[in-house]
Amino acid sequence: MEETLRNMTPVSRRYWIVLGAVAATLSAAIAYFGTSHMTTIYMEQAARRGDNTLGLAVSALRGELARYENLPELIADHEQIKELVENPGDRERVDAANRYLKSINALLESSDIYIIMPDGTTIAASNFDGPTPFVGENFSYRPYFQDAVAGGEGRFFALGTTSLKRGYYFGAPIHTNAGISGVVVFKVDVDVIEQAWHGTDYEIIVTDPEGIVFMSGREDWLFTGIGALTEDRLARTAETRRYADAELRELPVRRTVTAERYDLLTIENRAGSTEYLTVSEQMPEADWTVSVLLDTASARSQAMMTVVALLLLVGLAAMGAAVYLQSRARLAERLATQREAKEQLERRVAERTADLAAVNKRLEQEVDERRATERQLRKTQADLVQAGKLAALGQMSAALSHEFNQPLAAVRAYADNATVLIDRGRGADARMNIGRIAALVERMASISRHLRNFARKPNAKLRPVLLEEVVRDMQEIVSARLRVAEVELAIDLGDEPIWLMAGSVRLQQVLVNIVSNAADAVEGQAERFVGISGRRQGDRVVIAVRDNGPGVPEAIAARIFDPFFTTKGVGKGLGLGLSISYNIVKDFDGSLTVSNLPEGGAEFLIELDAAAEDAVDGNVNLEVAL
Ligand code: ADP
Repeated sequence: MEETLRNMTPVSRRYWIVLGAVAATLSAAIAYFGTSHMTTIYMEQAARRGDNTLGLAVSALRGELARYENLPELIADHEQIKELVENPGDRERVDAANRYLKSINALLESSDIYIIMPDGTTIAASNFDGPTPFVGENFSYRPYFQDAVAGGEGRFFALGTTSLKRGYYFGAPIHTNAGISGVVVFKVDVDVIEQAWHGTDYEIIVTDPEGIVFMSGREDWLFTGIGALTEDRLARTAETRRYADAELRELPVRRTVTAERYDLLTIENRAGSTEYLTVSEQMPEADWTVSVLLDTASARSQAMMTVVALLLLVGLAAMGAAVYLQSRARLAERLATQREAKEQLERRVAERTADLAAVNKRLEQEVDERRATERQLRKTQADLVQAGKLAALGQMSAALSHEFNQPLAAVRAYADNATVLIDRGRGADARMNIGRIAALVERMASISRHLRNFARKPNAKLRPVLLEEVVRDMQEIVSARLRVAEVELAIDLGDEPIWLMAGSVRLQQVLVNIVSNAADAVEGQAERFVGISGRRQGDRVVIAVRDNGPGVPEAIAARIFDPFFTTKGVGKGLGLGLSISYNIVKDFDGSLTVSNLPEGGAEFLIELDAAAEDAVDGNVNLEVAL
């Protein structure tokens, strides 16, 4: 139980403690009040039973006494008896009386019948011929005699002094002409009555006015005093010699009167003590008290049994309540667990939500930061572009001032010289100088022309162009140069006409630039060869220009498309051709790249969008304008 209690939750433990306390209190209350109450009830039942028994016993006694009550007077009235007391010395009369009394005694089943003279001497008796005859005995001390001789009714119960047998005595005066001349005494045996009194759990006793038991189903109680045998009582008893020479003693008894006014007698005996519930009734006519003593053991054990049954019932009820409370507690516990789990879940959800919200916030912050960074980046890029533009402008300006200053300085020198020469009359020399000035101006004009291309309209609309035509025009432009340099030009444009999206004049310019460079590159080679090929590859057209020159050195490959980059000597190259070509191809949404061939020589690749078939028709004639 202790273990069980320890394993319980505080709530169910409280239930158990409360339940235990209630059950214990209830049990104690039942044990205390129940026992006394049930004892009262069973005592009451016992008392009722005792009353019934008492009633029956009293009726039986009354009936028994009533049977003999009038007989003494009847006998006293008998002539024969009267004559006897008038003539007590008459032997014959005495004998006759003796026989008469004996016969009547037998007939009436009484104990003894005898005649006493006024002086107390017995002159005739029914037991005249018995072992203890009364004849000659003096009973003047007996109240029944005294009452009768005084003219009243003699009633007495006592232990026979002669016979040593208990009996009830009826005395009646014998009236003669001379007055009361004697007394008739009728003794009734009480043993017979007693024999019917042996009950199972009760005792019937008859006590005299001094409280001494005269009749009882139990022989050991006879002649014992229920109350204290005081001097007075003993003296009064001795006076009438009620108990002859019998030894009187006190019964070890304790008397208690309960709250319900039940008379309880606890009598000690050899085995211990027995408690009796006592109900009594006085019989004044006989001057005795009849009592019924009921053993309270059965009433008490019945009360105890009932209380035990009640306690069992309470125990069962407590167990039932315990089971109910336990199951309720379990249910409550389960509900609490579920509630806790739910709360925990909700807590977790809330935590996760908070986490998510935090992550979300962090993400938003990051997004903001990235946006800011991006803005910063764009700004930086824009700044860089701006800086790049400025740098390019600066580069261009530096290059231009370099390109123009030298010829201008030369022009100035030639002009000064020409002036001096003219002044000196050297017209021919002056003319030569002016011719040089003209050549230098021509060169500057040529640069200026090329620069114009930088200022071209960048988004001029593209048209389908037939590659074959562009190549043919290009061939015309470069043919004179190729012839002088003795360069062989091989053209391979495949069988199909190749249409591409471009501006034909600008594309032609690009091809002229690249082929011219190739022609420059192959200079000095024993065999001089330049090849141009064109092929359609899917949606694109690839134009390749190869030569068998020295190729483009690795170190300068990245720079050859920069403006004014040239490896050619002064007056030979401006370094603008590839730069302009690169920008033109880019405007065509194409690409211009360079690589070296494995067998030696450089290869320039122009990649452009092919013209869609349906876009070709009707557009061909517009090419001229571009
Ligand atoms: P320029 O022809 O006036 O020098 P370009 O821009 O046309 O200017 O060419 C730049 C440089 O590229 C040339 O100086 C040359 O060094 C190099 N280059 C161009 N084409 C070839 C080629 N086919 N083989 C070798 N180098 C070349």
